[in-house]
Amino acid sequence: MTIAIVGAGLGGLALARVLHVNGIDAAVYEREPSRGARGQGGMLDLHSGTGQRALREAGLIDQFQAIARGEGQDLRLLEPDGTLLLQEDTPADAPLERPEVDRADLRNLLLDSLPEHTVHWGHAFAYADHGLMHFANGSAAAYDLLVGADGAHSQVRPLLTDARPTHTGQNVVELGIPDIDHTHPDLARMVGRGNYWVLGNGQSLSAQRNGDGRVRIYLSFHNTAEDWFATSGVQFDDPAAARARLIDLFTGWHPRITALIAACDDTVVPRSVTTLPVGLTWPSRPDVTLLGDAAHLMPPVGQGANLALLDGALLGLALAAHPDDVPAAVKEYESEMFDRTSAAGRQSAYVQEILASPDASRKMLAFFQPG
Ligand SMILES: Cc1cc2nc3c(=O)[nH]c(=O)nc-3n(C[C@H](O)[C@H](O)[C@H](O)COP(=O)(O)OP(=O)(O)OC[C@H]3O[C@@H](n4cnc5c(N)ncnc54)[C@H](O)[C@@H]3O)c2cc1C
Repeated sequence: MTIAIVGAGLGGLALARVLHVNGIDAAVYEREPSRGARGQGGMLDLHSGTGQRALREAGLIDQFQAIARGEGQDLRLLEPDGTLLLQEDTPADAPLERPEVDRADLRNLLLDSLPEHTVHWGHAFAYADHGLMHFANGSAAAYDLLVGADGAHSQVRPLLTDARPTHTGQNVVELGIPDIDHTHPDLARMVGRGNYWVLGNGQSLSAQRNGDGRVRIYLSFHNTAEDWFATSGVQFDDPAAARARLIDLFTGWHPRITALIAACDDTVVPRSVTTLPVGLTWPSRPDVTLLGDAAHLMPPVGQGANLALLDGALLGLALAAHPDDVPAAVKEYESEMFDRTSAAGRQSAYVQEILASPDASRKMLAFFQPG
């Protein structure tokens, strides 16, 4: 039985690790040339029932707790005029319900837990036919089970479904303040140890402290067109001009809040937000399946990485439970995954609707404090 996993993201690596602890070998094919080839982005909050459950199945929960930041759970929710609506500070002895972890640290934890040579770097999957995968570098490899863990723009997905991600109407600009405690101590105090969210009318600013002292800032523009980056007047090739234009787009917001944009360095990244249809399924095939964003891409409201990790762990457990019947294992995995991720997709779409609505901050407050 040759199990081939396309994509060394969190979901693909969780699958490889759970298979490994159950004595099953798998090969992971990753298009990036090496583990450090691309920045892995910011922090992730791992939930006890999903992402942390996956790490427990992978035998890595203790190592995870050693790199997790409980204080990263802190939250401040504000209105654009600076009114503080909610402040949650995590006590030192609070249970690690949703601690933050640096995505690169988590990926390294998974990579280091696998036998050497499990990951074949520099292998971009191109297409598959008759049990053979072909890579962009001209090589090919045989498989019995092919698992597409290759993210939002999955090349494996078309083997199972015609569904494609579509634009949600949200466009995000990512910026960041390096070493904030030293470069801007006043702003560091304002942001705090975790998440700082300001939700306005169709626009939002969220700032998040990373383990290395960088604060990542996401500026979201809801109800905008797919070509918004081209029409917004933000010059992505001129960071100073881009910051000035972005501050302009937040006219009327409290100057303490827009000061966060002014303090950013020259990394200005456009991110267009796309999703797959909520509740996407496909007829099961014995030789191909999907996990993570490849299967159920949803708005980035804190679920995707958790679901990808759990998909990988549960597919690994299903394969370990049915070593002589892979089609049954795939069916069992898909049936549970479709139900679980449809529910998460509906919840993500609901949160996304709140974020895009007028009076988003009050609605989000009600979401956090129902009744
Ligand atoms: C700005 C932002 C913030 C987010 N914050 C959170 C959060 O706080 N919490 C949370 O739970 N989720 C968050 N998410 C969502 C989360 O990042 C994704 O849901 C998660 O990474 C999905 O994991 P994955 O393993 O399915 O895919 P990915 O992490 O995308 O990994 C896919 C891997 O496949 C590789 N690959 C792609 N194509 C090919 C190919 N053709 N051949 C070989 N390899 C290929 C890629 O290089 C990559 O390594 C956020 C997303 C964004 C954009």
